[in-house]
Amino acid sequence: MKFVYRFGAHRADGSARMKDILGGKGANLAEMTNIGLPVPPGFTISTKACVHYMRTQEMPRRLPAEVRQGVRFIEEIVGRKLGDPAKPLLVSVRSGARASMPGMMDTILNLGLNDITVDGLARLTKNERFALDSYRRFIQMFSDVVLTTGDEEFEKILSSERKRSGAKTDADLDAETLGRIVGRYKAKVRELTGKDFPQTVEDQLWMAIEAVLKSWNNPRAQEYRRIYRIPDDWGTAVNVQAMVFGNLGEASATGVAFTRNPATGEPKFYGEYLNNAQGEDIVAGIRTPKPLEWLEAEQPRILKQLLTVFRKLERHYRDMQDVEFTVESGRLWVLQCRTGKRTPRSAVRIAFDMVRERLITQDDAVLRINPEEVHALLHPGLDPKAKYEPVAKGLGASPGAATGEVALTSERVIELAAAGHKTLLIRHQTSADDVAGMARAEGFLTAAGGMTSHAAVVARGMGKPCVVGCEALRVDYSVRKVKVGEKEISEGDVVTINGTTGEVIIGPVPLVEASFSKDFEAILSWADKRRRLGVRTNADLPRDAAKAREFGAEGIGLCRTEHMFFGEDRIGAMQEMIVAEDSVGRRKALAKLLPMQRNDFVRIFREMNGYPVTIRTLDPPLHEFLPKDEPGIERVAARMQVPKDKLARTVERLREENPMLGFRGCRLGITQPEITEMQARAIFEAACQVKAEGVDVRPEVMIPLVGDVREFVLQRDLVNQVARAVFEKQGIKVNYLVGTMIEVPRAALTADDVAREAEFFSFGTNDLTQMTYGFSRDDVGKFLPQYLELKILRRNPFETLDTEGVGMLVRLAVRMGHRARPELKVGICGEHGGDPDSIKFCHAVGMNYVSCSPYRVPVARLAAAHAALREEREQQAKAERRRSRKAK
Ligand code: ADP
Ligand code: MG
Ligand code: MG
Repeated sequence: MKFVYRFGAHRADGSARMKDILGGKGANLAEMTNIGLPVPPGFTISTKACVHYMRTQEMPRRLPAEVRQGVRFIEEIVGRKLGDPAKPLLVSVRSGARASMPGMMDTILNLGLNDITVDGLARLTKNERFALDSYRRFIQMFSDVVLTTGDEEFEKILSSERKRSGAKTDADLDAETLGRIVGRYKAKVRELTGKDFPQTVEDQLWMAIEAVLKSWNNPRAQEYRRIYRIPDDWGTAVNVQAMVFGNLGEASATGVAFTRNPATGEPKFYGEYLNNAQGEDIVAGIRTPKPLEWLEAEQPRILKQLLTVFRKLERHYRDMQDVEFTVESGRLWVLQCRTGKRTPRSAVRIAFDMVRERLITQDDAVLRINPEEVHALLHPGLDPKAKYEPVAKGLGASPGAATGEVALTSERVIELAAAGHKTLLIRHQTSADDVAGMARAEGFLTAAGGMTSHAAVVARGMGKPCVVGCEALRVDYSVRKVKVGEKEISEGDVVTINGTTGEVIIGPVPLVEASFSKDFEAILSWADKRRRLGVRTNADLPRDAAKAREFGAEGIGLCRTEHMFFGEDRIGAMQEMIVAEDSVGRRKALAKLLPMQRNDFVRIFREMNGYPVTIRTLDPPLHEFLPKDEPGIERVAARMQVPKDKLARTVERLREENPMLGFRGCRLGITQPEITEMQARAIFEAACQVKAEGVDVRPEVMIPLVGDVREFVLQRDLVNQVARAVFEKQGIKVNYLVGTMIEVPRAALTADDVAREAEFFSFGTNDLTQMTYGFSRDDVGKFLPQYLELKILRRNPFETLDTEGVGMLVRLAVRMGHRARPELKVGICGEHGGDPDSIKFCHAVGMNYVSCSPYRVPVARLAAAHAALREEREQQAKAERRRSRKAK
């Protein structure tokens, strides 16, 4: 087994494809060498040495000899020798794992200096100040990191000497002062470790290498790996590299750059540098770095070379790069490159531009955009130029930013909104009672709750910004105030939340409106060309339908009619219907709802001209429409002009031990057919009306909560009967479908029977997950965190579809359904329809479409394209492997 791989000086042993054994940094140093960039020579000790060290606590036996050879390789190219008194070689020792890992050991620079070589370096460079500066840096770093003394005592000495000599920054320290600092440092090392600072350069090198290997298992690194799910057995590589000096005078510098703007994606480099500086000076914030553009005046030739390097790197890697470089006495060296981190906005712009520049294909561009991240592009955000100080931080549950006057109750939101104010609802937590207010607030902030709390789910559904679980908040409803540490917020004060980061800010912060940029539009259209899944939306209101169309929805997959009953003008009629003693009374109340429903459908059909609209008949238990407590009952009874006791009895009668499994869904329409009848009438009358206007209308009536095919047949026959009657009366015929939700496990298990009667299936995976696990979604928060911690669940099954259990039912139902009715349309309308991993599953099982909230439509379009493209690429890779096996 080979441990040492050389790089620098035109040929490297490794390449970018060898990240597993060379780590990211080492692999890219080799790759940059291979493409002819000026990389100081060095070698990488492979991750296998680290793996060996972890297992045995010892260095591999052959490693010392290979390292000696590696050092000789550097010495020959540079023409200096490690430890040579006259011409000493200095090196850096840098860690570098497969994935970027901030927890690992910090880089050691200037290794190879001791009391003798420091003089040699001074003579060689004719720069005593530089030699002493390098030595004091080395002692400080080596002691801190390898001898584990910490940095503090050294910083104290440094700043006291700065004061004493009147130097403003470290760069102003003169040779005499630096000499004194070196002396004091060495004494400090003796004091702190009981030993002299190691003077033998071979010892220095070995100690540094071993420290890097050890650092793989330090607590910081372990913690980081746990969070980012990086396997513990990867190990880190070690890079030993000839030093180049940015601190050799004013014609020297160190800098960092992105080849394009990482915030906006603008195709122009973005970087900073510092003259007469080394390594981390630039990020340490001791001196303010200068914008890279200033090199134009100082060293135009270097700037030109850098631009060539950037171009070459982008051509080669076909992506934006993050580059570290050093200028030594007017000569440019590149020390690192890696794919640059960027904002979602920048990612979109860069992918689009690179297609135009012919660096990548349209498919590549689509795959470069993380579907989850584009969500952030669709909501207004905090103005990136704004300066603000958050007072607290919670979980960013729904992205985007919102500013508004604080309201602590739903009622207060409604009052303020009616007066034309923008509001922010703050509560300990929210419940179904708050939905009316939530619909009118700009965003929500709760002290309790997690990513699946009521507030979080409603916010994502409504596409509103939301921060939950902000534990620093104390909401006191009695005095109508919120405490945050020392500060107090009253109702009416202005507060801003950032639902992307979870930040809470007192006072307004300017927002910027999100809009679909041209480049994003283009990438989505490329995604549309490749996806096989249709993307519909869950929308209950014409406004949501319009928004979803704007985002590219191809129809409605779920229109929940009950939401139409919640409006102030309608809930009265609904309550009247519920309280009615008999069918006659119910019909009277329903007759009031009919025109309102019809009108809603008319407007939705117009918005969805040419696209299917799936309308679900009444689903929630009726008690959700009634007041729960004494005062509520009193208020509603007075309005309805019925005795209070009568209403209280109805409320009592409808109370359920287990509403989730209660009197709801098609069970309502079967026992009270007038309801379904009215809804069907509203749908078909609306359809006839818009068809007469020239709208291409395609209604799909969906029966919820079917568990037995007989339930479906009863409801379907009723719907068909109403349709016939309406068409006859109007003299117009409209094509429509009647199908069912598959959300009760029994329906999935008997899907063949159901499919023989139903024209489409739509998987209601929220309920299907609840009933398959036996978890109530609204109560799962009590144990979900532990379940995730204990790894009983890998993901929250209400966010990402459980492909093994719930998914098994879905797979089975799709297969049985298609066998019974080959032309069966199949879709999904649960929250999962907007989750990229779940969408991948829907693609794989061969659904026709997914349906999700309007703001997730672009996410779903991208995710569906990813699923198709990944599948295609995997198949190509497989075919490739088969071919090469055959060739052998
Ligand atoms: P990180 O992984 O934290 O970026 P690096 O290994 O890149 O750590 O090193 C930290 C700093 O030291 C960087 O600014 C880098 O450019 C600089 N550096 C590393 N090796 C050398 C070298 N051989 N010559 C000059 N500077 C170096
Ligand atoms: Mg670096
Ligand atoms: Mg349901």
